[in-house]
Amino acid sequence: MNKLSRRTFNSKLTKGVGGAVIAASLPVHCIAANPTQKKKLGIALVGLGGYSTYQLAPALQDTEHCYLAGIVTGTPAKEGAWANNYGIPKTHIYNYRNFDSIADNKDIDIVYVVLPNSMHAEFSIRAAKAGKHVICEKPMAMNVEECDAIINACKEAGVRLGMGYRLHSEPYTNEVKRFVREKTFGNINYITADAAYRSMGSPNQWRLDRELSGGGALVNMGVYAIQSLIYGTGENPISVSAQEFSTRPNYFKDTDETITAQFEFASGAVGNMMTSHNVRANRLFASCERGWYELDPASTYIPLAGRTSNGELNFEQESQQKLQMDDFAQHILYGTPNKAPGDMGKRDMMIVEAIYKSIAQGGKKMPLSFSPSFGFGG
Ligand code: NAD
Repeated sequence: MNKLSRRTFNSKLTKGVGGAVIAASLPVHCIAANPTQKKKLGIALVGLGGYSTYQLAPALQDTEHCYLAGIVTGTPAKEGAWANNYGIPKTHIYNYRNFDSIADNKDIDIVYVVLPNSMHAEFSIRAAKAGKHVICEKPMAMNVEECDAIINACKEAGVRLGMGYRLHSEPYTNEVKRFVREKTFGNINYITADAAYRSMGSPNQWRLDRELSGGGALVNMGVYAIQSLIYGTGENPISVSAQEFSTRPNYFKDTDETITAQFEFASGAVGNMMTSHNVRANRLFASCERGWYELDPASTYIPLAGRTSNGELNFEQESQQKLQMDDFAQHILYGTPNKAPGDMGKRDMMIVEAIYKSIAQGGKKMPLSFSPSFGFGG
């Protein structure tokens, strides 16, 4: 074993090297997490819209621990092109009606739900019931109740659940998390995060339809700003107060346009966030006892950039989606930490609900409480 790299070793696993020898060589947690001893896990993408087409499927051509094994689509016209582009056999193509028969497909280990937000809970739960591990896109669901239903379904089925929070696998984000962990700049006094873009597309798109989206900017880009305030301080907030602004009410008829919110943290740090479908901004800035750090952009999937009071940050960039899906596959295969577990998605939805509640009550401060380390991931 010592002359074999992990990659070579793992490839021998699938070529039928004796099971008893392998079991003796693998750490105990690997055997438990990877009972099938597969080298690469098969992922099925559910929903073949923009994110699956332009980010996830291309990233799955470069992943080391998982690959694109199947698709689930409600649009038959997409099937042929995806089958041709990615060599997906007919037996691995499903629609929303026959999706549950994916349970019988041994090549598909993980179902990745990339549908409009109102469909996340239904398909995550159906995937869990089919015995598949689940990656659920953000926001996790329409409300906290649905988040609980997804988490419980995965627990009952004994499958793993991860959020599509790609930034936890990304180097600039992880450098900020290191500053926080090691107190590189001392205690954090103030943190601010903006995550916003200017929506000019069709007013009929699902993101502007509350029935399908569950909300506006807050549940879309706002989730990144919430995440930034939390990983940028290493704390869950103890309260939130929020305000809403509407400047294009004829376009944003059904969903929130711009929201600001202030977070309090138990350490005394103060947080401020802005999210919008009408403003261009993408930034994280933290002011600390002994300096500061900043990411700008902080949550796009074009390369991030950052600097601190000590100088520029400079990391090599790889596809964030590739890193994220490989991290989740390794969590299943080798028992490595789940970097974005379901609890994290639920926590963010609890904060989203508190923000909407605060706005409805004229900006009233809403207390929040989370059990220790709730939703921090690996
Ligand atoms: P999209 O509009 O491009 O695609 C949506 C897909 O869902 C399409 O294939 C569409 O045919 C299908 N669909 C099924 N029922 C539908 C309905 N009733 N109305 C509209 N479409 C329907 O959206 P997208 O950008 O691919 O986003 C999908 C999910 O991925 C969302 O939850 C979004 O928040 C998330 N997302 C995450 C990231 C990220 O960086 N993590 C980036 C983009 C999108």
